[in-house]
Amino acid sequence: MSVFDELAGQEQVVAQLRSAVSGGMTHAWLFTGPPGSGRSVAARAFAAALLCPYGGCGECPSCRQVRAGTHADLLLVRPEGLSYGVKQTRDLVLRAAGAPSGGRWLVVLFEDADRCTEQAANALLKAIEEPAPRTVWLLCAPSAEDLVTTIRSRCRVMTLRVPPAEAVAAVLVERDGVDHDRALQAARAAQGHIGRARRLATDPDAAARRAAVLNVPVQATSLGPALAAAAALVKTAEDEARSVTEQLDEPERDAVRLAFGEGSTGKGIAKAMRGMAGALKDLEDRQKSRATRVKRDTLDGALLELAAFYRDVLMMQFGAVVDLANADREGDLRRLAASSTPATTLRRIQAIMRCRERLTLNVAPLLAVEEMTISLCRG
Ligand SMILES: [Zn+2]
Repeated sequence: MSVFDELAGQEQVVAQLRSAVSGGMTHAWLFTGPPGSGRSVAARAFAAALLCPYGGCGECPSCRQVRAGTHADLLLVRPEGLSYGVKQTRDLVLRAAGAPSGGRWLVVLFEDADRCTEQAANALLKAIEEPAPRTVWLLCAPSAEDLVTTIRSRCRVMTLRVPPAEAVAAVLVERDGVDHDRALQAARAAQGHIGRARRLATDPDAAARRAAVLNVPVQATSLGPALAAAAALVKTAEDEARSVTEQLDEPERDAVRLAFGEGSTGKGIAKAMRGMAGALKDLEDRQKSRATRVKRDTLDGALLELAAFYRDVLMMQFGAVVDLANADREGDLRRLAASSTPATTLRRIQAIMRCRERLTLNVAPLLAVEEMTISLCRG
């Protein structure tokens, strides 16, 4: 077992990371890749490998602490709310200037580094320009262009690709015991997003929610149903986000309790319990801000799923021979392909992309989605 096992279809990146663990170190790394390619999974695996005395065995106490987010030499940062403020970043930079408590490295893992405000980016830049000798920065962003050039140019960039459906399916088969056909179908439907594929294959609710999203093109045929479809889409995304965060929250709380030795007795136990209360409070704050992001990301994911549906329609209209993401919906795809033109399908895809853009500008989700479903229905 290795901490890199979870990285489906990223052999090149994994080879580079492995050689960095044993060889010369770069102090700033940038992990990029489209949503679901596993950039934060890769960064976390790398952090575990750097901190593990055995190069990332995946089983020792150090590896387990990294997984639980409780390792003393791993500073795990996520945006408070929707972006990193300057104060949060400055605090972090101060902590990152210290020395590791145990091992060779102090690792700072900065998820969604593209969500830095401009001032926060300046604080970050200073830290990366003059890194503390034992500190390693791991930044994650969708693409290198999402960061200012000055930061980007100081990082070694690891670009993850969308893993092929087969590679994702293989992980589901080996690690989750899903049977091959089901794993492959889930991997195709999730378009290489491993966490999503796992949920589709193992959680019947997730599969039902996907079905609801893909019903939108069938339902949105006139104004009334289009508005109803919009409301259903927003609600589905919210339900899904809640289910995702609930599944993550509980094991994290358990891991903190375990790390502080809850239930044990002996000297210093009262002090440890106070430390635990503080850690649990920190965790709760992080979980809340994650819930906000997950809600937003989940709706975006649903929109991408919808876009993939119309892309399948377009492929059919052009007679292209490709693996359809929604092969399980072939009937709907065929009907839509036959009853519309490629130009209409393209306009529909554009309407979805416009909706995604408006959501990043903080337009009320229901409003943006209604506008989109109306455009889908007009064609
Ligand atoms: Zn280990």
